[in-house]
Amino acid sequence: MMNAAEINTTVMERFSRLAANHRLAHAYMLVGPRDSGKTQTALSLAQLVNCECPKAQPCGQCAVCLKIASGNHPDVYVIDSDDPESVKIENIRYLLGRTQLRAYEAKTKVFIIRNIEQMISQVANTLLKTLEEPTTNTLIILTTSVPEAVLDTIQSRCHIVKFLPSAVNRIIQFLKEGGIAEQDAHFLAVYSEGCLGRACQLAKQDIILKRNRILDDMLFNRRQDDFLKELSGDPLQAAVVLGLLLSFFRDVLLLKSGAPSSALVHQGCLKEQKTFALREMADLSLIIRQIVQTKKLLDEHLNARMSFFLLREYLWAN
Ligand SMILES: [Zn+2]
Repeated sequence: MMNAAEINTTVMERFSRLAANHRLAHAYMLVGPRDSGKTQTALSLAQLVNCECPKAQPCGQCAVCLKIASGNHPDVYVIDSDDPESVKIENIRYLLGRTQLRAYEAKTKVFIIRNIEQMISQVANTLLKTLEEPTTNTLIILTTSVPEAVLDTIQSRCHIVKFLPSAVNRIIQFLKEGGIAEQDAHFLAVYSEGCLGRACQLAKQDIILKRNRILDDMLFNRRQDDFLKELSGDPLQAAVVLGLLLSFFRDVLLLKSGAPSSALVHQGCLKEQKTFALREMADLSLIIRQIVQTKKLLDEHLNARMSFFLLREYLWAN
């Protein structure tokens, strides 16, 4: 039932730090695309809080870990809101009622409710009550791939944990094992859209160093006429620069709309992005339109020099 390959190790490392500091919350909502390992990670967390040989990660070998992995632990409940049998109102009421009772044998009772957005409104109130009046030694983990469909009242009572698609997450792990720092690995994995080959190629091309230089040249160095002229004559290099700028400003828009920094592609440039996020929305959309326009000229093999200089005007307009 449990598949270790699908556990999100980045999220588990975070849970493990929280557990070590006794700072785990009583309710989490795991949000991410289908098949991004949410349920497997929830089960791994259930093991972590109950493992007989407490370490940074669950041992996977003790009787408790094995029972949870095989779905036979009496205090670890998995409710699948997709499954009409398990989602019967009386079943859920009964299970949530169990949060009030003593555990059979676990240190912490764990309730995992999958695809919470499917939960029928009749049980939502019971769940809300459970979330509002947490009992000690109970952990509730909800999962969803459509957070927009989950009641605000439920969301606001849980700590939200976001999952990246599993391909992206596997690449981050792979790059980290190769000695690449977390922030950089995250950037490479997301920027390559979850394609391992492309991520490695970008790493080999020193894309991060390049990105930092490009941002310095385009955004902060006022004497870069030569750089712009060079770019206009080098379509390949220009495409890299425009692609990076576009994703940089997409991040800026996200920040401006209140997204957490964990949602950003360029997590290593937060300071620079915050500076730009102070600008008016109209300014930012002008910049983005000009990046797209310049890219279009290059794609059509037209002279983009004027367009690059106009882009610089917009970047520096204040
Ligand atoms: Zn164990």
